[in-house]
Amino acid sequence: MSVTQQLIALKTNLPQSVTLVAVSKTKPNGLILEAYESGHRDFGENKVQELTSKHEQLPKDIRWHMIGHLQRNKVKYIVPFVHLIHSVDSKRLLDEIQKQAQKINKRVAVLLQIHIAKETSKFGLDEEELEALLEQKEHYSHIDFKGLMGMATFTDDSAIIQSEFNTIKTLFDKHLHSWEKDPVLSIGMSSDYQIAIACGSNMVRIGSAIFGHR
Ligand SMILES: *Cc1c(COP(=O)(O)O)cnc(C)c1O
Repeated sequence: MSVTQQLIALKTNLPQSVTLVAVSKTKPNGLILEAYESGHRDFGENKVQELTSKHEQLPKDIRWHMIGHLQRNKVKYIVPFVHLIHSVDSKRLLDEIQKQAQKINKRVAVLLQIHIAKETSKFGLDEEELEALLEQKEHYSHIDFKGLMGMATFTDDSAIIQSEFNTIKTLFDKHLHSWEKDPVLSIGMSSDYQIAIACGSNMVRIGSAIFGHR
C-alpha cells in the first residue's frame, strides 16, 4: 500500500477524538509531501536537525511535533515554529523552553514525558518529579501545559503495555485541572496504539505503520 492508502486505512479506524501524528523520522520529504497532499498536517520528528531542515523545506502549515529526547542547547532552534513538544523530561529542559519562548514572546505547548516503561533507557519524569513541576506551574508564563506523553516497554506482552498505559492515564486524570484547554494524552505507536486508545489515548504517534520500516 502507498503512504496515502496506509493513512486513509489508519484514519478510518481511529476514533474521531484521536489525533494521528505521522512519525516521519528518517523518511524523505517526498513521502511526507505525499501524506501532506492527502490532507495530513501533523508530523513527528525525533531529532532537532532533521526537524528544522524539514520545516524549512516543506509547506509552512505543517504542524511539527518534537517527540524525541531534546537537548537544552537545541531548544532555541525549534521554539519559533514547533507545534507541540512531547518530550519534556526535566525541569532544566522546561526552564530553557520557557526562556527561549519568552525571548520571542511566544507560548509553547508541551507535554511532560512520564517514564512508564520497565527499561531504564527510556527518558521521562516519575510521579514525584511530575508533581514537583506542576506545583511551580505559575512560574512558566510562556508554557502551555497540554498533558502527558509516554512510551510503553518494548514487549509482546500486551498485559504489561496495558498496565503501563493505565498508569499514565491515571496520572493524566489526577492532574486534569492542570492541563490547558483540549488536554492531550500522547500514548501509542505502530505496535501498541490500539491498546493505548482503549486506555484513553487521544494522540497516537505512528511511523512504520504509515511509512514502512526504517
Ligand atoms: C519512532 C517513534 C515513534 C513511532 O514509532 P513506530 O513504531 O514507527 O510507530 C513514536 N514515538 C516516538 C517517541 C518515537 O521515537
